[in-house]
Amino acid sequence: MMPYKMSVTPLWMQNVALPPPSAQPLPSRVDVLVIGAGYTGLSAARETAEAGRSTLVLDVGEVGAGCSSRNGGQVTYSIKPSFNSLKAKFGADRAFRICREGFDAVAYLRSLARQQVDCDWREDGCFFGAHTARHFRQMARAAEHQPRGLEQKISVVSKADQHGEIASDFYHGGCVYHDDASVDPTRLLLALLRRALDGGAWVVDRCPVGAIKPTRDGFEALTPRGVVHARQVLLATNGYSGLPRGRNIVDSRRVVVYFRPSADGERIIFGGRAALAEKDPLACVPRLRQMMARIFPQLKSVCVTHAWVGWVGYTFDTLPHLGQHDGIYYCMGYCGQGVPLAPYFGKRIGQQMLGLEEGRTALDGLPFPSRPYYHGKPWFLAPSVFAYRMLDVLGL
Ligand SMILES: Cc1cc2nc3c(=O)[nH]c(=O)nc-3n(C[C@H](O)[C@H](O)[C@H](O)COP(=O)(O)OP(=O)(O)OC[C@H]3O[C@@H](n4cnc5c(N)ncnc54)[C@H](O)[C@@H]3O)c2cc1C
Repeated sequence: MMPYKMSVTPLWMQNVALPPPSAQPLPSRVDVLVIGAGYTGLSAARETAEAGRSTLVLDVGEVGAGCSSRNGGQVTYSIKPSFNSLKAKFGADRAFRICREGFDAVAYLRSLARQQVDCDWREDGCFFGAHTARHFRQMARAAEHQPRGLEQKISVVSKADQHGEIASDFYHGGCVYHDDASVDPTRLLLALLRRALDGGAWVVDRCPVGAIKPTRDGFEALTPRGVVHARQVLLATNGYSGLPRGRNIVDSRRVVVYFRPSADGERIIFGGRAALAEKDPLACVPRLRQMMARIFPQLKSVCVTHAWVGWVGYTFDTLPHLGQHDGIYYCMGYCGQGVPLAPYFGKRIGQQMLGLEEGRTALDGLPFPSRPYYHGKPWFLAPSVFAYRMLDVLGL
């Protein structure tokens, strides 16, 4: 095998230049300050700037330094709790409306991609692999009994037929979600950046907001380049993934893996939780390689050319949250599925900042649940991942 050097830059950034560092001076006063230049922040900024509110977006790193340039690019219906569990909590009407937000998010991204945004949108669907025979039976049952008005186009694929979807015997059959799609994450980011700029927003990178203080008529944000006064502030910082049909693949394990072919069909983009606490991309490679080789023994000795990690914003109720707290707007917590959710809810929070009725969502006003002894450091993460991994191993 030829020696090679692995890159820790996401594959998507290989041939795409992010904008050069912005040298522009900061305005001292704006109507709207957005903190975080990812999908959420850029999407919200487009709304407020286009409506005539002077809007500044600041990011501590490059534009898209967080998840938005480094995700797996998979687009799916992304409201995690089932209709029935939401119904038990919120009643049927609100549960239905929350689930519809998930469909609206995908529809919004689809409409952007079809009309205005060049992000390599591919509607090839997703094969959802069953990790055990029991998972397969549950999946097939769920596909046959979808809640009315919330139906997705799903085909059940038996283990005997799964070679039509994936060249592996690893799964016990699965389901094809025909409406799922994929994007090039970085091209989507750059397109949303272009839309924010065209709408009239300023976007300044490498400028961290260190603190936000309330003032008589809004807030002041402290940055190394000076103080910015803003009437409204939005936190969009969040939490800082040779297959026959070109589909995205996910499976039913708790500690999820996800993969898909690259647009040129030459590579596999393979992602998953490799370590109990992921910090060093290179340290994750042996385990990811092992996970991939279990599914595709034929790929045991292929070269891994790129490896990267990122921080996902996960909430205790597995729902996204948006709204206002102590006068500061926030929009985050997509639980690893912000490719459709972040542009959509970013637009909605931008509309809420404008006081527009169409900015209202079924998630407004939901309590933001926490856990005892949680003060910002997720001490429970490593033991939870370990426990979930054990349950997966046992097939429970
Ligand atoms: C490896 C990986 C794979 C993923 N795969 C998928 C997938 O296939 N499909 C899917 O739907 N989702 C996926 N996700 C999740 C998805 O990428 C995110 O949900 C989405 O990008 C969130 O966008 P955002 O704009 O809210 O946050 P981000 O893109 O994370 O943006 C937050 C920004 O805030 C900035 N910031 C933080 N603090 C400050 C500060 N003090 N001052 C200024 N700026 C600050 C950060 O630098 C960052 O740029 C994945 C995530 C990761 C990490």
